[in-house]
Amino acid sequence: MSLATCICADIGGSFIKFGLSSQAGEVTLIDQCPNPAHSWSDFVAALQQLIATHHASIAPDAPLAISTTGVVNTRSDTILAGNIPAFNGHKVTAELTDALKRPVVIANDADCFTLAESRLGKAHDCTIVLGAILGTGVGGGLVINGNIIEGRGGITAEWGHGPITKTSVTSLSGEELTLPRLACGCGQVGCLDTYGGARGLERLHQWRHNVALSSREIMQQWHEKAPQALETLHLWLQIVSEPLAFTINILGVDKVVVGGGLASEEELIAQLDNAVRQLILTPTAEKLIEPGQFYHQGGLVGASFLTR
Ligand SMILES: [Zn+2]
Repeated sequence: MSLATCICADIGGSFIKFGLSSQAGEVTLIDQCPNPAHSWSDFVAALQQLIATHHASIAPDAPLAISTTGVVNTRSDTILAGNIPAFNGHKVTAELTDALKRPVVIANDADCFTLAESRLGKAHDCTIVLGAILGTGVGGGLVINGNIIEGRGGITAEWGHGPITKTSVTSLSGEELTLPRLACGCGQVGCLDTYGGARGLERLHQWRHNVALSSREIMQQWHEKAPQALETLHLWLQIVSEPLAFTINILGVDKVVVGGGLASEEELIAQLDNAVRQLILTPTAEKLIEPGQFYHQGGLVGASFLTR
C-alpha cells in the first residue's frame, strides 16, 4: 500500500475524525476520538496521538489538512468556535505546524463541503457554488472557480444570519400568520437560522401547533402526510426559500449544494428547489438546488483538496 500523502482531520465539537488520503478527493476515514475541546494541550496531544498511531501509513512529509466547525480567519490565524473553547487565544495554524512538525492548513467545514462538491461532486461543472448547510442551524460556504472564498473575518455566504424576509406566512388553509421574530445565537433578532435548520423546524412546529417534536419526528410525520407536519413544512418552505433566492440573486450562483442533516431529505430539497426557482431573477427549468454528494463526509473530502 502506498503511503498517504495528506492527513485529513475533521474537527467537530464532540469528535475528531481522522482520515488518510493518497489522492485529492479520496479519503479513507481510519480513526476517530473524542475532541478534548476545552484544553488546547489535550487537543494538540490528541492529534499527535492519532498521527503516531498511524505513522506507518503516512509519508513523513505529509501535511495535515483540517476541516473544522467555527469561523476560520486565516489572516489572524484564529478560530472562533463556541463549542471548542480550546482554540481561544491560539494562533491555531502556526502552533499546530510547530507542534506536529508538518505543514497544517485549516478551513471551515461548510467551506470544505462546498469545495468537495465543486471539485468532485454535484457542482463539479459549475463556476459559482453555494454550499447551503441545513443542519442543526443554517450555514453556508462559497466556492468560485474551485477556490474557497474566505471573506472578511472568515465570514462568507452566511445566508442564515440576516432577517427573514417574510413578516407573515400563509397556512395551508390560506390564513395569514404573523411570524414571531426570535433572538438568534449570533446576537441579532429575526435571523433565518432561528427557523431554518433542524432546531428551527422544531421551533416552528412548536409555535404553530404547540407540540414539541424532534426534527426527525416532524420529517417522519411529513412523509406520512400528517396534517400538522404538512403545515409546518409548508410554512418552512416559505420562510427558507426567499432568503435563499435572494442569496442566489446576489452571488450569481450556478448551483446550490445542500449539506447538513436535512440534506438527506431529498423530497424536501426538491420542493425547496422548485420554490426557489419561482423566486430568482433568472428562472431556469434545470435543477438548481440539490443534496450534496458528500453531505456525510464532506469536511474530510474537502480537506483533501486544501493542500493540493
Ligand atoms: Zn443570527
